[in-house]
Order: sequence, then C-alpha cells, then structure tokens
Amino acid sequence: MEKIKMTVPIVEMDGDEMTRVMWKMIKDKLILPFVDLKTEYYDLGLLSRNDTDDQITIDAANAALKYGVAVKCATITPNRQRMEEYPQLKKMWRSPNGTIRSIMGGTVFREPILAPFLQPAVRKWTKPITIARHAYGDIYSAVDLATEEAAECRLVLASDRGTEREYLVKKTDGPSVFLAQHNTRSSIENFAKACFMYAWDTKQSLKFAAKDTIIKEYDGMFVDVFEKEYEKNWKARFEREGIKYGYTLIDSAAAALMTSDGGYVLALKNYDGDVLSDLVSAAFGSIAMMTSVLVNPEGKYEFEAAHGTVTDHYYRYQKGEKPATNPTATIFAWTGALRKRGEMDVNHELMAFADRLERATLDVLSEGYVSEDLVPALVPGFEFRVTSVEDIIDKIAGKL
Ligand code: NAP
Ligand code: MG
Repeated sequence: MEKIKMTVPIVEMDGDEMTRVMWKMIKDKLILPFVDLKTEYYDLGLLSRNDTDDQITIDAANAALKYGVAVKCATITPNRQRMEEYPQLKKMWRSPNGTIRSIMGGTVFREPILAPFLQPAVRKWTKPITIARHAYGDIYSAVDLATEEAAECRLVLASDRGTEREYLVKKTDGPSVFLAQHNTRSSIENFAKACFMYAWDTKQSLKFAAKDTIIKEYDGMFVDVFEKEYEKNWKARFEREGIKYGYTLIDSAAAALMTSDGGYVLALKNYDGDVLSDLVSAAFGSIAMMTSVLVNPEGKYEFEAAHGTVTDHYYRYQKGEKPATNPTATIFAWTGALRKRGEMDVNHELMAFADRLERATLDVLSEGYVSEDLVPALVPGFEFRVTSVEDIIDKIAGKL
C-alpha cells in the first residue's frame, strides 16, 4: 500500500509515563504504517525538559505557532513528590501546558467522545457538549486576604493619567476575608474570537454564560465583547450555517445543560469553566474519552488528551503488568491534528485517514474490548472484556 503523503509537518510534543508508552504504540502501529508522517519532534518528557532548562518547551510552543498544528502527549508537572522521585531535577519546572498556553495564547476547548455503548450520567445527552474555559485572570491571579481583626478594606484604582478613585469594600467588625480580581479587555476579546472560531469550525451553536445581573461592570465587559465580536465578524456566517450565538445567565445555563440534548459550545469564565468542565467530563463517562484542543486567536491549534500521564498504570507497566489503560483520547488528539493538517493543506486523504482511525478505535471498543475506566459508564447489558491497552491498539491496527 502506498502511504498517505504529507507536505507540512505536525509539531509533535512527546511526554511522560503511561501516555508516553501509548504514544509510541499509537505512532508505530496506527499511524506510521499508513502515513508518510512528517513531524517536527520535541521531547517534552520531564528529563528532557530538565536537560534543556525547559527551553525545549518554549521551542515546541514556537514551532506550534510556526506550523499551526501541534499534538501533545500528557506530561508530568513536577511537585514536591516528583522532586524526590527524580533527584536529578534542577528545578520544580513549570507546567508545560502553562508555558505553551502563555506563548500561544488562546482558549482550551474540551470535547467528549461519544459512543453508543457509553451511557452519559445525563440521559438526554446524545450530542457532545464542549466547554470553553477562559484561562486568564479572575480568582486565579487575585489578591486573596484574610484578617483576624476588625478591618476596613478599601480598593484604590490609580489610572495612568494620575487620577485616583477609592472605594470602600467593607468595614468589618471581626475576622473576615477579602478578594480583588481582574481581567483585561484584550484577553476577553481573544477568548471570544477563539470561541466563535471553534464554534464555526465545528458547526455548533455557541453560548456564553456569566452573571452580569450581579457583576454589572466586570461580567458586563465579557457580555459586550462577545456581542460585538458576534455582530462584527460572525453573525452573517452563523446565520448562513444555521447556528446561533446567545448569552445566558450562568445559573440558567447550568440548568439548561441538564435538560438539553447537547451539541453546542458553552463558553465560560475561568472558574465556571474549571468546575463545569470537570463535571461534564465525569458525566459523559471517562476522562479518557475527553479531548482537549488549544485554539489561539490566529487559528493555530494544539491537540491533546484531557487526562494526565496515568501514573499508577505506568508503575504497574514498569513491573511488567499490562494495564488496561484507555488510549482513545490520545488517539483522538492525533486524529484531530492530522485532520486539521489535512484541512489546512487541502489533503483529503489525510482527513479521511483521521476519520477511519477514529472509526476503527470506536469499533474495537464497541465490540466489547474495553479499558477499565469505561466499565462504570457502559450501557446496561453490554457484553465486554477488559483488556490491555496493547491489545486494544493491536485490534485497532487490525481494523485499519
Ligand atoms: P491522570 O493522569 O489523568 O489520572 C487520574 C486517574 O484517572 C488515573 O489514576 C486513572 O484512574 C484515570 N485515568 C486517567 N486517564 C486514563 C486512561 N487513559 N485510561 C484509564 N484510566 C485513566 O491525573 P493525575 O493522576 O492527577 O496526574 C498524573 C500526572 O499527570 C501528574 O504528574 C500530572 O502533573 C500530570 N498531568 C498532566 C496533564 C497534561 O499534560 N495535560 C494533565 C493532567 C495531569 P485509576 O487509577 O482509577 O485507574
Ligand atoms: Mg479543574
């Protein structure tokens, strides 16, 4: 068989532990036999980041900006425990995803992979619900204070022009807590652009939800920015495609989530997105059936699985066991990148291959060869056998 050709490379970011093991199996058995794969390879494994003083992460993110499509394996973000596990670490290196996001900018979209043999916790969900989380500011970079004494908290806004405004937050008569947070219009604008672009790309309606009835200025800016971006750049295109944009209050958006059948993109502020993205992924079945894509405002993409490096499975793998890890989200990160590369380069064969690989993956699972995480989410009466990731990947290769 002649292999499918590629012209422009995909930026490949390798990673750690069990996902690194699956990464190699997926490439060797599911992609390389069929595609004349062109990648620019960056090893973001912890030791390689340590050897390069993390320069490799910066280089990988810049390559993603250059080529426009990247695929990333899950990576270890070192913490104190990891410093003991890897004594050679020079530093507690930053989260690679954080570094990449700060260089590429943009918004993370998490979309579940649906299959008929999986039963979402919400029975009505028959189409995916994609959560877009604004990953800048708000409580994540706030001034967060506590006092044991009675106190008066004031907020001073000193403008660049030399004017000052002072506000009384509250005078309290005992122990109390305070919080001051911020956001910027440019960050919100980039968020809105990425959300409209993703909704347009995937031909789904977009909802933005916040609480502008209570936070009139702060959330009001978000609502205005979304509305302006829609009117200016998307309204005509959305109408032509039969998709919609609308703003709703966060509480009614949360209620609507439980009663809708899905099939839309829900754009949320940082904290709302943090909470609801975990809720939605758990309710759809398994974190290993959740893909994640970073879209920047210039239309550059980085695809990955939403889960981490599955450490406990890796320790078992090192002992010679064959863990029943789920490769689906990592496979779909690859197919997302291959399809996007195909779209950008008008390479129909590559796009068709991405479709076939996804279908082969779901076919194997639907025949009952499943990983252990899927068991609690299977439809009642479904006949299955839990099997190793190696076996699942071999069966997918067989289908291909
Ligand atoms: P995790 O790797 O996502 O694993 C959490 C648990 O979820 C696992 O113990 C496993 O449950 C289950 N799970 C996740 N993916 C699975 C899969 N593909 N197949 C089957 N089960 C799966 O998260 P974590 O344990 O919090 O983090 C581990 C490491 O990953 C950390 O070093 C963290 O820094 C890193 N991390 C990286 C990223 C990223 O690069 N994007 C994201 C998150 C975490 P059972 O143990 O019950 O089988
Ligand atoms: Mg979270």
